[in-house]
Amino acid sequence: MAKVKIAQYWGAGCGGCDVALLDIDEKILGVAEMADIAFWPIAVDTKLKDVEAMPDKSITVTLYNGAIRNSENEHVAKLLRQKSLIMVSFGSCACFGGIPGLANVTNKKDLTDYVYGKTFSSVNPDNVRPQPHYQAPEGELELPVLYDTVLTLDDVVDVDYYMPGCPPTTELINLFLDVVEKHVKEGAELPPKGTV
Ligand code: SF4
Repeated sequence: MAKVKIAQYWGAGCGGCDVALLDIDEKILGVAEMADIAFWPIAVDTKLKDVEAMPDKSITVTLYNGAIRNSENEHVAKLLRQKSLIMVSFGSCACFGGIPGLANVTNKKDLTDYVYGKTFSSVNPDNVRPQPHYQAPEGELELPVLYDTVLTLDDVVDVDYYMPGCPPTTELINLFLDVVEKHVKEGAELPPKGTV
């Protein structure tokens, strides 16, 4: 029988949305039967290069939590969009910016000046700052670029469903996973796109 393939990624957020997915009461016992985990780096040994090798749209659903704060968040969001049938903006940080989005009342320079020099606990006699983006030779790893502005998931990719909440409730997650499972196993129609 067809199985749901799930991906979960943690962008700019606190990790609470990842924990929420583990906190779905007794349904967690059935997740292994219901779903294959295609990518969930915080919980399962899965690598980005494995996702890159997957056919497009081969992941049933990606639950992307966290905002888009840097180039890595955007890169992974675009890759998972390409590989997923259903893209869910999971949690308030992905939907609206959430707590990371509060950084948009300032800018990258003022933010790093404050964090690296002006807080009560800042000890930085050499005035060390994050370095400008290192452009690595092709094929080598690069450090992500910190963006000036915190973006929402739908600022960078098309989103099918929005599941707000900080984190989303167990009830909402269960409801949504049931709907996706029925779609994969019984061909049931998915609800209209939008907010879950
Ligand atoms: Fe954490 Fe809330 Fe953001 Fe989820 S929505 S990553 S729980 S701050």
